[in-house]
Amino acid sequence: MGPLLLKRARVLDPASQLDGVRDILIEQGRIQRLAPELDATGARVVDLEGLVLTPGLIDMHVHLREPGQEAKETIASGCAAAAAGGFTAVAAMANTDPVNDCRAVTELIVNEAQRQRSVRVYPVGAVSEGLRGERLAAIDEMVAAGVVAISDDGRPVMNGSLMRRALEQASRHGIPVLVHEQDETIVGEGVVHEGEVSARLHIPGWPAAGEDAMIGRDLMLVEDIGGRLHIQHLTTARGAALVRWARARGVRVTCEATPHHLTLTDEAVAGLNTDLKMNPPLRPERDRRGLVEALIDRTIDAIATDHAPHHPNEKAVEFCCAPFGTIGLETAVPVLIERLVRSGSVSLLRLVELLSLGPARALGVAGGRVAIGAPADLTVLDLEREGTIDAERFRSLSRNTAFPGWRAVGWPVMSLVGGRVVYDAR
Ligand SMILES: [Zn+2]
Repeated sequence: MGPLLLKRARVLDPASQLDGVRDILIEQGRIQRLAPELDATGARVVDLEGLVLTPGLIDMHVHLREPGQEAKETIASGCAAAAAGGFTAVAAMANTDPVNDCRAVTELIVNEAQRQRSVRVYPVGAVSEGLRGERLAAIDEMVAAGVVAISDDGRPVMNGSLMRRALEQASRHGIPVLVHEQDETIVGEGVVHEGEVSARLHIPGWPAAGEDAMIGRDLMLVEDIGGRLHIQHLTTARGAALVRWARARGVRVTCEATPHHLTLTDEAVAGLNTDLKMNPPLRPERDRRGLVEALIDRTIDAIATDHAPHHPNEKAVEFCCAPFGTIGLETAVPVLIERLVRSGSVSLLRLVELLSLGPARALGVAGGRVAIGAPADLTVLDLEREGTIDAERFRSLSRNTAFPGWRAVGWPVMSLVGGRVVYDAR
């Protein structure tokens, strides 16, 4: 692959706070030169005038479903969906079948992702064998095979002693523990946020305390024994306040929020559309506003989609029986630009940071920068492009989107991984 010269893009780089028109020369998968005006004889030239170029977006919370549930998603289809959504890397959760709790499964994911030559896939290993919350998974051998973090995501680590040992083990390897915070004894059979809406609909409520109590427990464990904690899909204003409190005490904690929790509330569930059934659930407006404030004051480090593909037949059942989750890879960018940036809540540069540098730091992986020497993982956005979210056009094998028919101005149009174009819709 010869040199590639990207011309006249408006480059946004959160790490250096750069917002200006630049040319970028890519050679051997890396950014070799970055300047207001470059010439390079022999290089293939791509003119990006009028478009925005950002560090490659990283989604640190994705369910690729392979191995085991390939009707919902495969590594190939999930990578294609990621690339089309502007993402150049994803972290793949461990709740596959079999669970990614040992070397063999990690290797299968790594090998298949390499074969696709698409976006980067960072496997996340399980905390516990089979996600059963009883015995620790084979963390040493999974780290050797390539996992960048551990998580029982989809399930909480209810056993505090196991959580403590997981933090110790992860700390020895210098990787974070990603946590799905849910005290099952408080949450019970809850399927929507416990409040006015659950009472009106007469469906079991999921109290906010079920999330916040576990956040409190884990923050205190990390303060006392060390390690790195990353809180997944934070949904409550009180949870954000707990994170602020812990940071002030020097605790190493990062956290993420999802596009759906940042743009929807439990009122949306009133129509009992199963595509809006989430775990953790959509919360009231005061929590949604609290999350947006936490993006701005930097309490939240990353936006991650929790891309959770489900077969249409599984979602086409009564609300209480349907599986939790929405897909998100192909909708995150337009939804967030439309609802957070165009509404004036969050700057575009901050949004880009939450989708690139923030997750790179929280996961401890490369990327997140447009800088000389950095891998040429890059995303191009067209802020003028108008479109409607149409599930029938998704690369994902699933259709369970929380945002059907949403209009948005501002879409990803190109994704490059290591200088290779993996998506181009200019
Ligand atoms: Zn989860």
